[in-house]
Amino acid sequence: MIIVMKPGSTDADIEEVSRRVRAFGFKTHLSRGEVRTIVGVVGDDRGKEQLLALQSLECVESVVRILQPFKLASREAHPEDTQFQVHGVPVGGKQIVVMAGPCSVESREQLMEVATKAKAAGATFLRGGAFKPRTSPYAFQGLEEEGLKLLADARKATGLPVVTEVMQPDKVDVVAEYADMLQIGARNVQNFSLLKRVAESGKPVLLKRGMSTTIQEWLLSAEYLLAGGNPRVILCERGIRTFETATRFTLDLNAVPVIKKLSHLPVIVDPSHGTGHWEYVAAMARAGLAAGADGLMIEVHNKPEEALSDGPQSLKPDRFKKLMDELRPLAQILGRIL
Ligand code: PEP
Ligand code: MN
Repeated sequence: MIIVMKPGSTDADIEEVSRRVRAFGFKTHLSRGEVRTIVGVVGDDRGKEQLLALQSLECVESVVRILQPFKLASREAHPEDTQFQVHGVPVGGKQIVVMAGPCSVESREQLMEVATKAKAAGATFLRGGAFKPRTSPYAFQGLEEEGLKLLADARKATGLPVVTEVMQPDKVDVVAEYADMLQIGARNVQNFSLLKRVAESGKPVLLKRGMSTTIQEWLLSAEYLLAGGNPRVILCERGIRTFETATRFTLDLNAVPVIKKLSHLPVIVDPSHGTGHWEYVAAMARAGLAAGADGLMIEVHNKPEEALSDGPQSLKPDRFKKLMDELRPLAQILGRIL
């Protein structure tokens, strides 16, 4: 951080600020301009909120952050893209990952049909919710452990690794027993006790962006996972709240290049939740890849008209296949593999 002194600050003011900075264990570097003096804080000051509090001194004009507040998630700390494997599937390299499946696991027949068709179309992960975060307490809440068992059976049948949501810390162990990757949903991105517990599980994590979290807040949530010793994190842009009502959310594709600049973590795009309408999913899936995403999450349902959650945004298996066939040449143009 740098501390900008007000014009007219005395030597005693500057010394007082420098003394306080040194008291936090940092060195200082003074830069005296014609009008203003800047006290530079030398050392890694991320997380030192007390330095920001110096703004309340009369003689201080502003305290400005220089380093990103997230250390481990930043490109400054880790210039290379993060790459890892989940159940043998490479993530974060040239290979595009496609996580496909129903919003909710509803029955064995439903899941098996969708999983088999998604795999045949080229999906690389099976998604499906067993614990569902629903806005209404009267809506279908998920099959819970029964749903996890069905997901594990579908993995056995198809070979696709399973990604599924965990909503509360005391369910992390049971979800981790069946899943290959734990999803933290938009509504839990700042559930810090869940983030800490999921970090401890050692399972790869899909961290969705909250509908009202800034990119910086989202990366600080990823920082909880990395700081907890879990480096295998994928970020998922799934749309944010804006004034627009024609779509369910506004898919913030700006986030993709911004994340690529700020962080080394892989980032995927979810055009299903991002638009809320199946007709728009293909266009925004193409746009997501063109923006530089490392993959996609797409909801697929064998009978969207009967789905217990998110039917309006779910693709039928044949439409999903058509989309995958369209995305393959696009991936090639982008220098990626699908
Ligand atoms: C989901 O993936 O079905 C889901 C609930 O997503 P989000 O947390 O992005 O709303
Ligand atoms: Mn959903």
